Amino acid sequence: MDEDYDELVSYLTPREETESMKRYQNTTSIPCPVCDEPFADLVIVTGQSTSLELSEPLDICVSRTSEQKPMLFTHQ
Ligand SMILES: [Zn+2]
Repeated sequence: MDEDYDELVSYLTPREETESMKRYQNTTSIPCPVCDEPFADLVIVTGQSTSLELSEPLDICVSRTSEQKPMLFTHQ
């Protein structure tokens, strides 16, 4: 899972990083590891808690990194 996660992130474009989250954009239409549909963004929650501000309703798939950080895959 660790290698899968590193490999996945290496294909994504970093867009935003705060002390509680990192957001990557899926510019190459990589399929979501949860549902196999291409996702829009990957958000990794790195803080203890985060208030994720979503500007519009989105479908979200949830997984975890090897370090048990929540990974949110957003679909538009
Ligand atoms: Zn998905």
